Amino acid sequence: MTVSSSSSTTDYVVIGGGSAGCVITQRLVEAGKSVTLLEVGPPDNHPFIHIPATFVRIIGSHRSFMYKSEPEPGIGGRTLYVPQGRTLGGGSSINAMIYIRGQAEDYDTWRDLGCPGWGYADVLPIFKRSEGNERLSGEFHGARGRLKVSDLTHTHPLTHAFLHAAQEAGYPYNDDFNGRNQSGIGLFQTTTSEGRRGSTAVTYLNVVRNSPLLTLRTGCEVTRIILENGAAVGVAFRANGTAHEVRVRHEVILTAGAVGTPKLLMLSGIGPGAELVRHGIEVQRDLPGVGENFQDHISAPVYGVTDQPISLLGEDKGLRAVRHGLQYLCSRSGLLTSNVVESGGFIDTAGSGRPDVQIHVTPALVGDAERKPMGKHGITINPCVLRPTSRGKVSLRSADPSAPIVLAPNNLTTEEDVATLVRGIQACRRILRQDSLRELGLTEMLPGGPDELSFEALAAHGRAVAKTVYHPTGTCRMGDVAHDAMAVVDTRLRVSGVARLRVADASIMPTLVSGNTNAPTVMIAERCADFLLAPA
Ligand SMILES: Cc1cc2nc3c(=O)[nH]c(=O)nc-3n(C[C@H](O)[C@H](O)[C@H](O)COP(=O)(O)OP(=O)(O)OC[C@H]3O[C@@H](n4cnc5c(N)ncnc54)[C@H](O)[C@@H]3O)c2cc1C
Repeated sequence: MTVSSSSSTTDYVVIGGGSAGCVITQRLVEAGKSVTLLEVGPPDNHPFIHIPATFVRIIGSHRSFMYKSEPEPGIGGRTLYVPQGRTLGGGSSINAMIYIRGQAEDYDTWRDLGCPGWGYADVLPIFKRSEGNERLSGEFHGARGRLKVSDLTHTHPLTHAFLHAAQEAGYPYNDDFNGRNQSGIGLFQTTTSEGRRGSTAVTYLNVVRNSPLLTLRTGCEVTRIILENGAAVGVAFRANGTAHEVRVRHEVILTAGAVGTPKLLMLSGIGPGAELVRHGIEVQRDLPGVGENFQDHISAPVYGVTDQPISLLGEDKGLRAVRHGLQYLCSRSGLLTSNVVESGGFIDTAGSGRPDVQIHVTPALVGDAERKPMGKHGITINPCVLRPTSRGKVSLRSADPSAPIVLAPNNLTTEEDVATLVRGIQACRRILRQDSLRELGLTEMLPGGPDELSFEALAAHGRAVAKTVYHPTGTCRMGDVAHDAMAVVDTRLRVSGVARLRVADASIMPTLVSGNTNAPTVMIAERCADFLLAPA
């Protein structure tokens, strides 16, 4: 590789132009700071990113990382694909756009785990400030924020059949999962606006895209944070086969996601000392928590199949696809405005007074990222464990930045998680048996069998089909760094013992929130910008 001696200087470097990185960049530039934003992936200029229903075509393309886990002991030794965004907007450019914040208790738990200032009362104003909700406002919602949130304008008939069936099974309808009470089933609101995806690249970054204060570089892989005398002074990156450096006057902000962020810290000598030494990396800061505490939402679908042509199967083919495309082009309406995963809900399967399972519903039979289409009409009712107790790990395979990381999620390795998943499967099977789905000819394909299946049979089904809901978090967790050796960042998101370096993405979550993770990540990024712009 050619080494360029070029070394520019900027106020801040933001590493990774994903959900969080785009937010922080916009906030800093808006405040008059110069920012260099380095993103390894290409620009977000593919139409399938912006048309809501077509995001599934981006997953698996060069705009996504397809991380592969090690064989997973909790799921019979299978490996799982864990996709992540790899383009401007990151996950917010390839995700299912569901807008969920989690439960108030999630943030109160963070507060009580050594993160004062991160309780629900502290974060709610930030959620509201970032939210531009087209329907809701008031105590729990913001109408004027940058992150556009809207109701779906197109919903599939099977979605409504599910909503009816869930009510018949006893679950109440909830028209606001982000209000006072998360419990119940209903339609998701999505981060979309006027029939288009509202990624953070679109809603935040684009606002400052032409500012002379912004240096935006895509196709740049950051390989190391440059440290001098215990402080971050710049980053090393490569682009088009050439190595470059950029120096900072103020700080480096790392937002490469829950897999990319710990990887880059470790490559820079910040991480578990013994492991770094094993890879021949000079230890700059021995931080054993880097890469630990991996958490993800794991689901095990219940499939209902029917002979009737009532699902999305075939809608992306031939004349029907042309019709949907024309409708979208002419009037920004129809199937292509849908996020496909239109409905679901939150249920309390343990009677604890707090939902412990989230359901995502797709009006089609869908498997995991790498599985082939099933070729039949049907519905997928997907329960996931909201607050997993299993913990995994991200570690380096070698000191070579191009080497794939070692991803050991350890999903379903606690009895508690398996029991919660089984109760979720039972609830979804019950919903599938209600009249509103039954009268469409839907019968259970998987797990299949009699109404009453044993715990062991359902657990076996869960382990056989378990897949990620794409919410990896926690690998650089926030905490009380003075007393907690495993905490990586403090409550102002500063990396413990390393000056001028912050982490501000999904990796800092001490525990996984009870819901989808994009809105919480945007909240974290907004707070990071607040901390940078108003130093303590
Ligand atoms: C398929 C899928 C569906 C999802 N569905 C939903 C949903 O419906 N609702 C929801 O709330 N959440 C959803 N999520 C999760 C949500 O999108 C993520 O939690 C969120 O995007 C995480 O944001 P982040 O900033 O931590 O990381 P990311 O958004 O992943 O950003 C990290 C960025 O850093 C870049 N990067 C990594 N390494 C380097 C490097 N060395 N140099 C330069 N750049 C680098 C990456 O390319 C990426 O752009 C989904 C995620 C996926 C993948």
